Amino acid sequence: MHPALDDVIKCSREQMLLLKEAAIEATSSGFVISDFTRADNPLVYVNKAFCEMTGYTQEEVLNQNCRFLQASDKDQPEIEKLRIAIKESRSEKVLLKNYKKDGTVFWNELIISPVKDKVGVVTHYIGIQTDVTERVNARYALKKKTQELEQSNQELEEFANAVSHDLKEPLRMISTFLEFLDKEYSQTLDDQAKDYISHALKGSDRMKHLIEDLLDYSKVGSLHHDLSVLNLNKTLEDVLDNLHVVIHEKSAKITVDNLPSIKANEYQIVTLFQNLISNAIKYCKETPEVKVGYLDDGPYCIFYVEDNGIGIDDYYKDYVFQIFNRLHSKKEFPGNGIGLAICKRIVNNLDGSIWFESTKGKGSKFFFKVPKENI
Ligand code: ADP
Repeated sequence: MHPALDDVIKCSREQMLLLKEAAIEATSSGFVISDFTRADNPLVYVNKAFCEMTGYTQEEVLNQNCRFLQASDKDQPEIEKLRIAIKESRSEKVLLKNYKKDGTVFWNELIISPVKDKVGVVTHYIGIQTDVTERVNARYALKKKTQELEQSNQELEEFANAVSHDLKEPLRMISTFLEFLDKEYSQTLDDQAKDYISHALKGSDRMKHLIEDLLDYSKVGSLHHDLSVLNLNKTLEDVLDNLHVVIHEKSAKITVDNLPSIKANEYQIVTLFQNLISNAIKYCKETPEVKVGYLDDGPYCIFYVEDNGIGIDDYYKDYVFQIFNRLHSKKEFPGNGIGLAICKRIVNNLDGSIWFESTKGKGSKFFFKVPKENI
């Protein structure tokens, strides 16, 4: 036979009851008991925390149904959930918009549970109430910020689209007329004039690329909704295919680890790996040897692109990820300084982070890490 519970915890039944009562009074959650044997299920007990939370005294609320907390705000969908649970004699957890005695709104996370008699009939319901106003407000503020951010991303993209269209048009005119000049007056123009035209053409070509890159940068914010499951081994094949000219030109050796599948926007993942691998090939004075790898880091996936290139001083660990920042002249290494900024935006969209480890003259290893739950 099992010993009685009171014997085990070494106190009398009466002591135990007193302890339970003191505990209910001591808890910081509101605790109430409604009597379901009486009409309109009035409150027969409320603890101190309930009074502190709502501003009512015990005398003001006992013998009343708990619905006074909703004031005139009685059309809340969660109230229907409560009704159904009570009808089915079960527990339920709801979030209610409640009002304190002075009219202040507060968000009440309420858990109700039935108390049954010996034959299983519900005689009472207990309610445990927690003021979660701060949490609800924080969630609301975050939602609002996210919406604002999405809107500003969309505006940025629309702005960039309009600007790029408006800028490309005159640019096309400039380069077209320069080409006319170069072709149709080639007999008349001296070498110096031809040299000037060639510089002007290169400038307009650079400007065209810059506009396209800026457009790509602005698009990163809005594309992260269009997600699909990507087999990264296949994605990397596409990336290397896109880069096949430069890989061939520089006789680059690329090795790729076995990579997992992830859920992400395909265009963004291709752009991310493409930027990192093309940098690994570009910033290298010998035959590039590039490794694309994967590390399983518990709740995170870590990917890296490692090269045997010129390396970067740790001093520039933040600088290179900011838009337009470069460490070399265009003559030494061509580029616009947008690639890593785009990579950072893409990784940020996945709540991840990007960084590098490098030894000058020996090579760099660019890592990005993303939470598995987001991919
Ligand atoms: P871009 O290559 O067009 O200059 P990025 O934003 O891709 O623009 O890179 C920013 C700068 O970071 C580069 O100008 C270069 O100085 C440095 N960098 C990027 N990747 C590497 C790399 N793998 N090795 C050495 N330096 C790099």
